[in-house]
Amino acid sequence: MRSKLPQNKLSIFAVMSKMAAQYNAINLSQGFPDFNTDPELIRLVTQAMQNGANQYAPLAGYLPLRENIAAMVQELRGGTYDPEHEICITVGASEALYVAITAFVHRDDEVIVLKPAYDTYEPTIALQGGIPVPVQLDAPYTTVDWDAVAAAITPKTRMLILNNPHNPSGMVLKDADLKRLEELVKDTDILILSDEVYEHIVFDEKQHRSVASYPGLKERALVTASFGKTFHTTGWKMGYCLAPKALMTEFNKVHQNTVFCVHHPTQVALAEYLNEPEHYLNLGSFYQRKRDVFLDAIQGSRFRFTPSEGTYFQMLEYTGISDLNDVAFAEYLTKEKGLASIPVSVFNKEQRDDRLLRFCFAKEEDTLLKAATILNAI
Ligand code: PMP
Ligand code: GLN
Repeated sequence: MRSKLPQNKLSIFAVMSKMAAQYNAINLSQGFPDFNTDPELIRLVTQAMQNGANQYAPLAGYLPLRENIAAMVQELRGGTYDPEHEICITVGASEALYVAITAFVHRDDEVIVLKPAYDTYEPTIALQGGIPVPVQLDAPYTTVDWDAVAAAITPKTRMLILNNPHNPSGMVLKDADLKRLEELVKDTDILILSDEVYEHIVFDEKQHRSVASYPGLKERALVTASFGKTFHTTGWKMGYCLAPKALMTEFNKVHQNTVFCVHHPTQVALAEYLNEPEHYLNLGSFYQRKRDVFLDAIQGSRFRFTPSEGTYFQMLEYTGISDLNDVAFAEYLTKEKGLASIPVSVFNKEQRDDRLLRFCFAKEEDTLLKAATILNAI
């Protein structure tokens, strides 16, 4: 059998969550909350099922949900999207990413990917016969070297993938970053795929800046987002994509032939739930508190860190504690110490190892304090 993805290994998220379960370790590896979503949202899904929203939804999604997303994006980002033609509800951000790449990347097209990068981008590019062009950021990956990005652009560059706020580093792009990117792609036909699943999770005085707020980027961008991150429902796999009409028309052709449409009752519930902006506006302070509980508790440990600016991940550096590579050290921590994390090298170009582990702090404070006790003893 000829594999279409010969190099692709089992996702690190599956590997580490399985190892955590096997060794009964606290699981701060795969990114998901260990607390439940709002009972009101569950009630709304149940109600939608009882009211009969149990057959296919429209191809691009339940219209009132698309309308409420358009209103939210307009309010928060100042970008206008027509709910009828420029928004599609997807099976998590994952489907949106898959469809966006599939719809636009042709054989031998180059796609620039900033490393470390989320693990689905490059395999999806490869499946389309495209060529991933990795641009490696320097640890702790909190700034982008735009000159290096500029140097990676060629006449074959079809797309550039951004992830902001950034998993795994927590980097939040600044106005100057987006302006520089706007400048770089001006007068080219490079598309931007902007993965903004952590859009509501930014800390301190930081602000999430969407490509939707920059006209020179918005006109060529597909923006992906996830209700899993925003409403603590990663298992529901609900997300969406925003793009100008011409791009969305092509996106929908692939969406139609992938899933056609998405879980209907959940869309009805989310439409209703979005009527209350505080359901997403408080998310930054909610997770900032968790980040601070975690970091305060490991202040005296031998791990070093720069506080995460956004997302629900914190990277910790362990140089000076162990000479093991990060994959081996993550395995050791899980098996011997009872704490699972993600080794960051798996997201890097040629698995570059900067001795960093990623910890998910979307957890009850009690879980975070137990994890801190383990880290402090190392
Ligand atoms: N992009 C990034 C950067 C992520 O961290 C995730 C995580 N889950 C996804 C995409 C996929 O989102 P979803 O679970 O909504 O498919
Ligand atoms: N996005 C989550 C993370 O980064 C995991 C998603 C997955 O399990 N595929 O941990």
